[in-house]
Amino acid sequence: MTMEHKNLAGLSREELVAEVVAMGEKPFRSKQLWHWIYHRGETDFDRMTTLAQPLRTALAENYVVKRPRVSNMQTSGDRTRKWLVQFGDHQEAETVFIPEDDRGAVCISSQVGCTLTCTFCRTGTQKLVRNLTAAEIVGQFMLARDSYDEWPTPTDGGRMISNIVMMGMGEPLLNYDNVAKALTIIMDNEGIALSKRRITLSTSGIVPMMQRCGEELGVNLAVSLHAVRDELRDVLVPINRKHPISELLDACRAYPGANNARRITFEYVMLKGVNDSDADAKELVRLLQGIPAKFNLIPFNAWEGAPYECSSNTRMRRFAEILNDGGFSAPIRVPRGRDILAACGQLKSASVRGQRQAGPANSER
Ligand code: SAH
Ligand code: SF4
Repeated sequence: MTMEHKNLAGLSREELVAEVVAMGEKPFRSKQLWHWIYHRGETDFDRMTTLAQPLRTALAENYVVKRPRVSNMQTSGDRTRKWLVQFGDHQEAETVFIPEDDRGAVCISSQVGCTLTCTFCRTGTQKLVRNLTAAEIVGQFMLARDSYDEWPTPTDGGRMISNIVMMGMGEPLLNYDNVAKALTIIMDNEGIALSKRRITLSTSGIVPMMQRCGEELGVNLAVSLHAVRDELRDVLVPINRKHPISELLDACRAYPGANNARRITFEYVMLKGVNDSDADAKELVRLLQGIPAKFNLIPFNAWEGAPYECSSNTRMRRFAEILNDGGFSAPIRVPRGRDILAACGQLKSASVRGQRQAGPANSER
């Protein structure tokens, strides 16, 4: 390859039409191409047998269909799998798959690092930050499917990779355009065809983008609340200084598509002696009255140098009980993949760790 070949994966439908037309082909060819790329998961133009041979050759001369490079893959004792994904500029992010019995969620990153600096989150301590492109976001999903051999898109619903959570590295609503483009590709019925009901986007509370996300994408929303008072949330989730709790909850009340059958998930990280008192739980119940809400209590996942400890099991159970009594579902999340640093909030790309630890960039074990 002398010239840089353009990657077709990650292009919107309209962009794919434009490429095909620029090659002198009829627009409908792009539909066939779309089917090969997103339904079949094919990366080799030569195997795209519904396309005429000259077109396949021309495509191969000018384009590629490729995934980001996987520089390391680890599978936890509990079967959680983590990929360290390296992009063209050598920056890295992590993708995690959390299997259940007959289904599972792939946890996708939206940025390299994160510009926000939540004090309990390891990603927030990473210096290097950039937005991921739509191709890099869709690519994470596609490489997870490669890894579980789930092409073509199973039509019987019996797929291992059944859900997406935008809960990896980064704040998805601060990279909205690329995230929206990627999710639109993923939800497209003639391709990967994952329903919006199987996609959950987690935000730290980028209030001005929430309405648009609900209207345009209609995905499930998860909100990282973590505190009931602004003074504390200002510290834990510093974006709170810009968008305080009352504004955040107003945006939740207005979130399109949220109802009792499709509740907003409020994530709440359990920090010993910080946000886990009975009074905190009671205030949560009061604050969320009238919002179609459910909780996800996340035991704090420690990382080296973290300034917090996880609440005790009895404390977490008592906290959950108060929320239950207040009428809310509040499961305590079972941490997955802790042994490979794949659990919530532990993600941080190895390239940055490596700089300090003077080891090969991808040897985490
Ligand atoms: N930036 C988005 C999505 C990524 S974080 C957000 O903040 O919502 C996904 C979830 O993991 C968030 O609820 C986040 O608060 C939580 N989290 C971050 N660090 C954690 C840690 N060390 N232990 C447990 N949960 C953590
Ligand atoms: Fe960024 Fe979310 Fe981590 Fe906060 S919790 S630093 S918003 S990734």
